[in-house]
Amino acid sequence: MAYDESNIFAKILRGEIPCEKVYEDEYALAFPDIRPLAPVHLLVIPKGPYVSLDDLTANASAEFIGGFFRAVGEVARKVGVVENGYRILANNGADAHQEVMHFHVHIFAGRQLGGMLKKA
Ligand code: AMP
Repeated sequence: MAYDESNIFAKILRGEIPCEKVYEDEYALAFPDIRPLAPVHLLVIPKGPYVSLDDLTANASAEFIGGFFRAVGEVARKVGVVENGYRILANNGADAHQEVMHFHVHIFAGRQLGGMLKKA
């Protein structure tokens, strides 16, 4: 799937829609999810036009991929969830119900998160 510059996270990256910045560096931006599912629910997005993990890992440089995932770890440290634990999740494609077609990693924390997936 081609990257569509009109997605909501592209607008946030361009500053057209506000967000509460939790962390930012040259590779990534992190902000709270607008519909939180846990006391801590953040989104970390790459500063590049990548639809999915597949797109990112096929088309970004090793430096960018490494920088992005380093930023995910940095966000977890910055918000203080490492000691008690947290979950990262990335929905990719239709079966995963990906809503926003700009790759993003969710960070969930702040309560017992339960089992990994609901049974169908
Ligand atoms: P998904 O693509 O399934 O991982 O879901 C996209 C996530 O983006 C959902 O959890 C939404 O609540 C969240 N979201 C959508 N628009 C915004 C926004 N403007 N600011 C923060 N989070 C958003």
